[in-house]
Amino acid sequence: MLKIGITGGIGSGKTTICRVFETLGIPVFYADVVAKQIMVKDEILIKGIKETFGQVSYLADGILNSKHIAGIVFNDAIALEKLNALVHPAVFRAFDQWVASVPTGCPYVLKEAALLFESGSYKMCDLNILVTSPLEMKKSRVMARDSITEAQVQARIDKQFTDEQKLLLADFIIKNDESSSIILQVVDLHAQFINR
Ligand code: ATP
Repeated sequence: MLKIGITGGIGSGKTTICRVFETLGIPVFYADVVAKQIMVKDEILIKGIKETFGQVSYLADGILNSKHIAGIVFNDAIALEKLNALVHPAVFRAFDQWVASVPTGCPYVLKEAALLFESGSYKMCDLNILVTSPLEMKKSRVMARDSITEAQVQARIDKQFTDEQKLLLADFIIKNDESSSIILQVVDLHAQFINR
């Protein structure tokens, strides 16, 4: 089955666009949502996190001690790399399991991930889509959606590849600038994917 990655900077609208693909019957794997779920489900991951960041990483009832983990990785790039090295393979495992559960008649699936290119997981997809939006638009959308300041949005943007870096790795682009129709762009890509 054709696996298509979809990514874009924070607030670019990748989740919104995935919802349009879903209306066409295309299953979407939301990697960032799954990553949060498996932190308390995937036994290999839980063991790795406890070994790397201490038993205190989980509270008595198995709840992730996110405050503890965030406190370690927030300003420590090496610790963040270690966490990613544990989480990313676990998300890959979850994705493979999920793909195996998709009905065989389905023409393709989408994997939505904020760090598709940064994590290297785009290499496991057959094709990759980049959603682009003007910087100021992305910032104002996220500030409105998450009630955060411009500086907080910028701090998140700084942790991601720039669109220029991502463009080099993308096979397709969806322009979400609120003047180009995202529905028409999705329908056009959908037709290309089902005809491959
Ligand atoms: P993140 O990386 O933060 O998860 P995202 O790329 O998935 O963001 P969305 O959550 O889809 O982005 O969109 C961010 C916000 O912008 C949402 O509130 C969404 O409703 C709004 N938005 C996205 N695209 C459009 C659009 N074309 N017109 C109006 N609002 C939009």
